[in-house]
Amino acid sequence: MAEINSLPLKERMKIPRTPMPELDAEVRSHNFDEVNRGLVAADALTEATRCIACAKPGCVVDCPVGVKIKEVVALIYAGDYLAAAAKLREDNALPAVTGRVCPQENQCEGGCVLGKKGAPVAIGNLERFVADFERESGMLGLPSIAAATGKSVAIVGSGPAGLSAAGDLVQKGHRVRVFEALHELGGVLIYGIPEFRLPKAIVKTEVDNLRRMGVEFETNVVVGKSVTIDELMRNERYDAVFVATGAGLPRFLGIPGEHLNGVYSANEFLTRVNLMRAWQTPAYDEPVYDCRDRDVIVVGGGNTAMDAVRTARRLGARSATLVYRRSEAEMPARIEEVKHARQEGIEFRMLTNPIEFIGDQNGWLTGARCMKMELGEPDRSGRRSPVEIQGSEYLLPCNVAIIGVGTTANPLIQSTTPDLNTTSRNYIVADPATTRTSKRGVFAGGDIVTGGATVILAMGAGRKAAASIHDFLTAGEW
Ligand SMILES: Cc1cc2nc3c(=O)[nH]c(=O)nc-3n(C[C@H](O)[C@H](O)[C@H](O)COP(=O)(O)OP(=O)(O)OC[C@H]3O[C@@H](n4cnc5c(N)ncnc54)[C@H](O)[C@@H]3O)c2cc1C
Ligand code: SF4
Repeated sequence: MAEINSLPLKERMKIPRTPMPELDAEVRSHNFDEVNRGLVAADALTEATRCIACAKPGCVVDCPVGVKIKEVVALIYAGDYLAAAAKLREDNALPAVTGRVCPQENQCEGGCVLGKKGAPVAIGNLERFVADFERESGMLGLPSIAAATGKSVAIVGSGPAGLSAAGDLVQKGHRVRVFEALHELGGVLIYGIPEFRLPKAIVKTEVDNLRRMGVEFETNVVVGKSVTIDELMRNERYDAVFVATGAGLPRFLGIPGEHLNGVYSANEFLTRVNLMRAWQTPAYDEPVYDCRDRDVIVVGGGNTAMDAVRTARRLGARSATLVYRRSEAEMPARIEEVKHARQEGIEFRMLTNPIEFIGDQNGWLTGARCMKMELGEPDRSGRRSPVEIQGSEYLLPCNVAIIGVGTTANPLIQSTTPDLNTTSRNYIVADPATTRTSKRGVFAGGDIVTGGATVILAMGAGRKAAASIHDFLTAGEW
């Protein structure tokens, strides 16, 4: 066990939270370099010193996958970063990713006792520090792989749910093949979250590590079109299938003018920029509507909307405005993203809802007719619902509008797998404890079951599925 923190408790509690070094806001709003630069070892030690090693650590209770944070922090304090990384990986297969994108304020850091009177331990920043140290040291260890079982598992989708299931299953000796519809692996981590928040090289390293462990990958395979689940099981003789296809079908506002040129879904916009590298124009010739010297609005208040508006700013938008129908207090985006967006000059137009897009005679967007809103009674989500203020209508001029109001399930697999039970909104029904679906041998987890959630929850579902699939393959019982 790591050395116990010897500084008196009172002294530790006086140490201020170590800030994360960031790129200058003006500089970074014109490039795609990563905003957060990472802690250096001396800062990580100072931050680890703040932890008071609680007898009942709230940080662990509030981590969705129960990472042993107290032990990880103690190992950082002792300077054994590789052991800290190994401890992290016992519960979290992608720590360099979650250290960057988890909403820690609602999870581990939300449960940290220091947060009651001051600032919680910067757990996410420490997690990122050890994961980066491990990767940059070239010591990213390969776990031991059990003897081959002769069983094989097909995983559909290479997002965090699919990748974490693949890692666990291959370690148990099963043959694992991941089928991915797109030409790159990583799901939202690659096509959704921009480079300035999560460099693609980090995701690629994790995927390469899985490859070295023996996971097979096949890209450009749309399961449900190129091959069905039944064909995978019957013709290709997979013993089990894990469906981890996410919830990537964009929702629209359903208002007049949404068909106009210049109106995008945030998913399409981010995919063109991130996955197809429109941000590296002219080296990559991917068409994306030119944001340079244009007025861009993004509708929504979650991480997707925030990523889209910050991306538009980096692509040279004259103005980049976030339009959200509730107030900032109700926005689901991570607090850090909101702070960064403000620093980068994003305009926030809260309590505003577009009701129509207006175009010119050639079908190009020129503006959005908006209503001002006020907050009414709480709705089913517990947030106060937005109510239109009669007579408050006004025109917001814009040349590009990006809709980031959420996504839903793509029904392709469900419609080609008749005995798979789904909800009325096309999500797959799976037992929360086992991830088993209504179809023998088929498991499902991540956003395709829960609806759009978080990376860590998708990873947790992937790990649960792997354990459950292993039980099924070894016991043979359904
Ligand atoms: C822009 C954006 C920003 C986000 N930011 C954050 C954040 O900061 N923090 C956070 O915790 N969460 C964030 N999220 C949410 C998080 O990324 C998701 O909850 C998570 O990625 C879900 O993982 P998944 O494995 O279930 O699905 P996904 O990551 O969606 O992966 C599913 C994969 O399956 C593939 N697929 C789909 N259908 C098929 C098919 N028929 N055949 C083969 N392959 C198929 C898809 O191409 C995709 O690669 C964000 C989401 C978006 C869109
Ligand atoms: S709750 Fe905070 S102080 Fe307590 S063990 Fe966890 S990180 Fe340390």
